Amino acid sequence: MSRQRTVFRGGLVFDGTGAAPAVADVVVADGLVVDVGPGLDGDEIVDCAGRLVSPGLIDCHVHFMADGDFSPNTHANTPFSTNFFLAAERMARTLACGITTVREAGGTDLGVKEARDRGMVPGPRMQLSIAILSQTGGHGDSWAVCGAHMPGMMDAHPGRPHNIVDGPEEMRRKVRELVRAGAGVIKVCTSGGVLSPRDDPQHAHFTADELEMLVAEATAANRFVMAHAQATQGIKNAVRAGIRSIEHGIWLDDEAISMMLDRGTYLVPTLIAPRGVLEAADRGIDIPDVILDKARAVIDDHRASIARAIEAGVRIAMGTDSGVTPHGRNLEELEQMAELGMGPNAVLASSTSVAAELMGLDDELGTLEAGKRADLVLFGGQDGADIDLTGLKDRVEAVYQDGRLVSTGA
Ligand SMILES: [Zn+2]
Repeated sequence: MSRQRTVFRGGLVFDGTGAAPAVADVVVADGLVVDVGPGLDGDEIVDCAGRLVSPGLIDCHVHFMADGDFSPNTHANTPFSTNFFLAAERMARTLACGITTVREAGGTDLGVKEARDRGMVPGPRMQLSIAILSQTGGHGDSWAVCGAHMPGMMDAHPGRPHNIVDGPEEMRRKVRELVRAGAGVIKVCTSGGVLSPRDDPQHAHFTADELEMLVAEATAANRFVMAHAQATQGIKNAVRAGIRSIEHGIWLDDEAISMMLDRGTYLVPTLIAPRGVLEAADRGIDIPDVILDKARAVIDDHRASIARAIEAGVRIAMGTDSGVTPHGRNLEELEQMAELGMGPNAVLASSTSVAAELMGLDDELGTLEAGKRADLVLFGGQDGADIDLTGLKDRVEAVYQDGRLVSTGA
């Protein structure tokens, strides 16, 4: 019995393998790519002339439990379970951008992922970190000066273990708790951050013995570790401990860059995030001055730091920190990466094959090759043989997961 073959015909195919984009056909059957090349046949034809055909995009840093509004009032006035319904709508918005897979960088628990995996709600595939490990007073500590823990992304609930940990032995237990709760990756803050009022993004957090324990326990469970790391020393401590990716990387110096090159550490820039904080204030969202001052202070240093890393050849994987910004604007990150010196093919590779490698999913995702899952995005407005990222976010025309049409764009 022959299988139903769908041929995506005559688009400019960016396959993520490093090959130059070329006009070709992509054949999909049973949810998998079965062939890529010229002159292929199928039972059903999708005309891709004048379109760019890309592997499904991967965003390595999102938070579905927020949507560009961190005001304590908003969190305090949102009923607990409403958050999960809000997340479902954000996931659909993300899919409409062409993002078919995400690394969830903290907040979302296993039930949300399972709802998607069972087909109850549309959304990107997810690798979950669930909780954001922080030292007492660190970036993920939700304690407020009034003595309460602020609801939102950080505080514990039955699906999301308490996230504050001090000392190697607590670290050992906490990683095991997260794996038990369904974490596919472990997230840690090795420096302070912007959106937390009581810490400094230029300070390193956790000591070498704590980070070594973290990586050892994660590795024993076959999980990678991602580090929110903005401070120079926090970045170096993370790289030295064997953490797989540096998130944000606001103050990379030459030594940090060369350490990352030596060890193959990935950098996830999240360029749109600090600006998003300022834009949220412009939209009238209540953000304390101390946080706005921090966001303003980091923007230029952040861009200079990422530009240096790009220039030096550090592996860059696309990640937006959406949640800090409203979901659905993810592709603005690609434009920012291009502005800092990445060519369009490199930007797309960061958003597909490199991102899949970072997440350890490159045997099934990230390229259009026979045997890979048929996650594809069709972008309109593709003239000629060169990829132009201009206006990409408004050009998404069709998004496929496992060969099924799941969105026709925003
Ligand atoms: Zn984040």
